Amino acid sequence: MRYPKLRELKEAITAIIKGPCTTKYPYQPHSPAKRFRGKPVYSNDGCIACAACSLVCPARAIEVKDTVDRKKAVRRMVLHLDECHYCGQCSALCTTKADSPPGIKHTTEFDLAGLDRRQMISQTDEKELALCEACGDVITAKAHLEWLAKRLGEIRQNKSSMRQMQKGHHD
Ligand code: SF4
Ligand code: SF4
Repeated sequence: MRYPKLRELKEAITAIIKGPCTTKYPYQPHSPAKRFRGKPVYSNDGCIACAACSLVCPARAIEVKDTVDRKKAVRRMVLHLDECHYCGQCSALCTTKADSPPGIKHTTEFDLAGLDRRQMISQTDEKELALCEACGDVITAKAHLEWLAKRLGEIRQNKSSMRQMQKGHHD
């Protein structure tokens, strides 16, 4: 039992010299660490409305709001901050996480308490949906299809340059 007492003594002396680890928030402003997982926010430019984040969200805090009627076929991603655990799965597994900007990322904003749950959301603008010509069902967002087409085009181009390089090597 000697070791814990010495350890506590060391911590007490360190705290006297360096000051406490706790802050005086809310009486003084608090700056969270750089990698702090605060309020997750969508980027309208980065998000392709693929809905992958809603599938990986353990709290089911992300709603995929599809509106399909005669006038429009659109999707809005809605993250309910009052249900969010701030676990970071949505940003870690976002389809466009390697893009700039990514579809969703955590900010260091943490003071999110409020009285109206309807205000506690982070959402995208409406993104146009692609519908099946035969049955009218939702395929995915058009931005998602465009993103895939662009990525597949890049992969195809890389493969054909590799093939050309290999051919040149054998000739
Ligand atoms: S692009 Fe990222 S943030 Fe947007 S819907 Fe897909 S997974 Fe979610
Ligand atoms: S941080 Fe976690 S709980 Fe919150 S929306 Fe993202 S995946 Fe869901």
